[in-house]
Amino acid sequence: MTTDALFDVLVIGSGAAGLATALAAAPRRVALLTPGPEPAADGASRWAQGGIAAALAADDSPRLHAEDTLIAGAGLNDPLAVARLTASAPGLIAWLQTLGARFDRVGAALALGREAAHRRARIVHAQGDATGAEVMRVLAAAIEACSHLTFASRRTAFALTRDAAGRVVGAWVQGPGGSELWRARAVVLASGGYAGLYRYTTNPPGSDGSGIALALAAGAALADLEFVQFHPTALAPHDDAHGQLPLLTEALRGAGAVLLDARGKRFMPALHAEAELAPRDVVARAVWCEAQRGGAFLDATVSIGAGFPQRFPTVFAACMDRGIDPRAQPIPVVPAAHYCMGGVRTDAACATSLPGLYAVGEAACSGVHGANRLASNSLLEGLAHGRALGAALASRPLPEPGAALPPQRRWQPLPAALRARLGDLLWRDAALRRSGDGLARAEAALATLAAEVPAASSGRDLLVLAAAMLAAMRARRRSVGAHFRVDAEAVAAA
Ligand SMILES: Cc1cc2nc3c(=O)[nH]c(=O)nc-3n(C[C@H](O)[C@H](O)[C@H](O)COP(=O)(O)OP(=O)(O)OC[C@H]3O[C@@H](n4cnc5c(N)ncnc54)[C@H](O)[C@@H]3O)c2cc1C
Repeated sequence: MTTDALFDVLVIGSGAAGLATALAAAPRRVALLTPGPEPAADGASRWAQGGIAAALAADDSPRLHAEDTLIAGAGLNDPLAVARLTASAPGLIAWLQTLGARFDRVGAALALGREAAHRRARIVHAQGDATGAEVMRVLAAAIEACSHLTFASRRTAFALTRDAAGRVVGAWVQGPGGSELWRARAVVLASGGYAGLYRYTTNPPGSDGSGIALALAAGAALADLEFVQFHPTALAPHDDAHGQLPLLTEALRGAGAVLLDARGKRFMPALHAEAELAPRDVVARAVWCEAQRGGAFLDATVSIGAGFPQRFPTVFAACMDRGIDPRAQPIPVVPAAHYCMGGVRTDAACATSLPGLYAVGEAACSGVHGANRLASNSLLEGLAHGRALGAALASRPLPEPGAALPPQRRWQPLPAALRARLGDLLWRDAALRRSGDGLARAEAALATLAAEVPAASSGRDLLVLAAAMLAAMRARRRSVGAHFRVDAEAVAAA
């Protein structure tokens, strides 16, 4: 099917970044595509627990927030992008409140949590640990009221389309009735990250990097693919499970929960001055090592205890589902792929290297996060950049697109068994501890896998993305931020 309609803006993905872009682009005619049945149904945004970072406290400032962001990113961030983002954060919280977001309060003031590597309490949260759900609730309600917007559910983009001049002018999309062409004057990738490719992840299955893969296939420049953040504390699976594991938010450690080894002894104080609140990658590697040795556990029995169900209802429910009562017993944990700093390279205007193509949120690599993301900076980034891009697209003339060229690939996703093999090979050799030998082994396994997948298919594009990740990990021979090479001297203690 080919839609005759020409939209001003095509937004691919309906997470926080996509919805913010679509809202802010009014009164432009916007098409918003998502694989799920409704706007807030899929993507990582609704799973976000801890919150949104913003310098709101009297002892805080956007400058301090920026400094913490640069330290977490090991200085590989773009300082101007960081300064712009942290300066925009207080206004963004106010905007969400005008949309109706109900954030947790202490008296009249917003309650501010503290997470690892933040020197101030600056995490705005909702219902304890359900911030993403609250943000998505208000954004989804806001887009319902918009007449400039066409929302198309059950649609997955599998190729970008360009005109004869090389400008991106739309996307080929798999819909309920087959392939469709969606044309637009500007195309925005808001399709999330690729952490869901790993065997253990905190992300839903749709965070598979498919949007980034189609940008790569169209020739867009990617950046920083080696920087994948692993969350130290996901609820350990019962068995040989693959895929999304419940996250045990960092706010638990912020509230005093401690990590124990299999003998019940704390191991973080010996490894880092900040102990359990050390940077995420330091804690994640320590948990990985303890998990190999016999198990790692998060103990909140003393620090949170009876207050657990009220303070962390989402985590409490996930633990109880697994038969673990966190008020009375330590919770078994493993690290899991959580957030991707890398993505489609963008400039200050969210423009990619391809004319007509923009990227926001986790799909983009805007330079904000550097080698490691500071906790709770990503909802902020997606929302702030989405709003800014939408407003920019609304306020300037958009060029007339040329005729779309036919698709260069066909819709053919990776079969589940091959996707599981991909997850395994990334988990084994491209996760928390990497080496040249391990990465070479992963590349060989990936080549074997690729031989089973037809060329010019959407499934093959995911493998090409995985190959680009491995190449980036190989090319960075020294450890920095979230990238840890066991075969090279660590250059940053992170
Ligand atoms: C468990 C968990 C907890 C987190 N907690 C926090 C937190 O407390 N604070 C914080 O700042 N960040 C947190 N994060 C990270 C944060 O949630 C994400 O970085 C952020 O929500 C990404 O938003 P996004 O809009 O870019 O992508 P997403 O919310 O992932 O949305 C992507 C959208 O694109 C769609 N899509 C994907 N591929 C295609 C395609 N090919 N065609 C069409 N549509 C496509 C998806 O279905 C989805 O609708 C957390 C993440 C997880 C998983």
